[in-house]
Amino acid sequence: MQTFPGERLEVLLAHSEIKHRVESIGKRITMDYDGKALLLVGILKGSFVFMADLVRSIDLPVAVDFMAMSSYGAATKSSGVVRILKDLDHGVDGRHVVIVEDIVDTGLTLNYIYGHMRSRGAASVKICSLLDKPSRRQVAVPLHYKGFEIPDEFVVGYGLDVDERYRNLPDVCRLVQE
Ligand code: 5GP
Repeated sequence: MQTFPGERLEVLLAHSEIKHRVESIGKRITMDYDGKALLLVGILKGSFVFMADLVRSIDLPVAVDFMAMSSYGAATKSSGVVRILKDLDHGVDGRHVVIVEDIVDTGLTLNYIYGHMRSRGAASVKICSLLDKPSRRQVAVPLHYKGFEIPDEFVVGYGLDVDERYRNLPDVCRLVQE
C-alpha cells in the first residue's frame, strides 16, 4: 500500500494469521452463547473490520450494535479522557453482551465501557479484543476473548488507523516514522 511521506509499514500480523485466529474466537463464542440472546457491541471506529469478520464466524443468531468513544485524535498516546460520542441504539436489558474492541492499551477506554454496560441491565458482559498491549496497562480489565498480545508499538491496519489512514490494510502493521 502507498504510505504517507515519512512513514513505513512493517507487517506484524499477516491477514492469514488474523483470519485463522478470528475464526477460532468465533467458534468459541458460538459454543459459549448457544441458546442465549447474544449482542455484539463494537467500539468504533477501530473495531469495524474485526467485527465484520467475527460476526461471520459466529454460527448463532446475533445482534450487532456500536458505540463510539472519544479518540486520541492525531496523537498516538493515551489522553486518559474517555467520553461517549455515540451510544447504543437499543437497550441491553436481559441480553448477553460481548464488547468488541480493536486493541487494549492502557485499559482506560474498556474499563469505562465495561462498567457502563454492567450498570445497564445486561444479563452478562464479556470483552473481546483483537489485540492486547499488556505492557501499557494502567487499569486491569478482564479480556475474555483475545486475539494476539503485541509489544508496545503503535500499529495500524485491519481497522486501526493513524489520522484515519491505513484502516483498509488487510494486515496489522507497525507504523515506523522515519
Ligand atoms: P486504551 O484506553 O486502552 O489506552 O485505548 C484503546 C484505544 O486506543 C484503542 O481502541 C485504539 O483506538 C487506541 N490505540 C491504542 N493503541 C493503539 C495502536 O497501537 N494503534 C492504533 N491505531 N490505535 C491504538
